Amino acid sequence: MQMMDRRGWLTGAFALGASAILAPSAAWANMPERRLAFRNVHTNERIDARYWRAGDFDADGLAELDHGLRDWRTNDVVPMDRGLFDLLVRLRENLGASSRAPFDLISGYRSPRTNAALHERSGGVATKSQHMLGKATDIALPGVRLETVRNAALAMQGGGVGYYPRDGFVHVDTGRVRSW
Ligand SMILES: [Zn+2]
Repeated sequence: MQMMDRRGWLTGAFALGASAILAPSAAWANMPERRLAFRNVHTNERIDARYWRAGDFDADGLAELDHGLRDWRTNDVVPMDRGLFDLLVRLRENLGASSRAPFDLISGYRSPRTNAALHERSGGVATKSQHMLGKATDIALPGVRLETVRNAALAMQGGGVGYYPRDGFVHVDTGRVRSW
């Protein structure tokens, strides 16, 4: 699977139907390692980290992800919710994308300062955002329609899902199951 080329996983993603999205991921249970890759759309920074392998978390991989998902405006780093990493891996698996396929990262952790500034600018940013708890990301998956990403996230019932088609991202968090 990992050696599948870009065209291969894109084809898989486009061929994906609703039943595939809803099917439990058998691949998840048997996965020898869990990895996540991101490209920060603001800074163009790229990370590709293996944060779990041989049945346990990998401290180096976790640190790399925490750093990659930091508040890029202030450089504040917090330990992100590990459940959020797993949620994103399962989302990517359910979408049929390869384990090296990078998510576009629009937003990860947000410091109170950044969140307050964004809230000032846009009423759409909550004052008590899951981003401030390290439990949320705003993402897209290149090559996969945004609506497909949203539908797959909704089907997982893993937390909050927000759809922002005009801004080109889906918000995914590990808070209460809800959607907007
Ligand atoms: Zn968000």
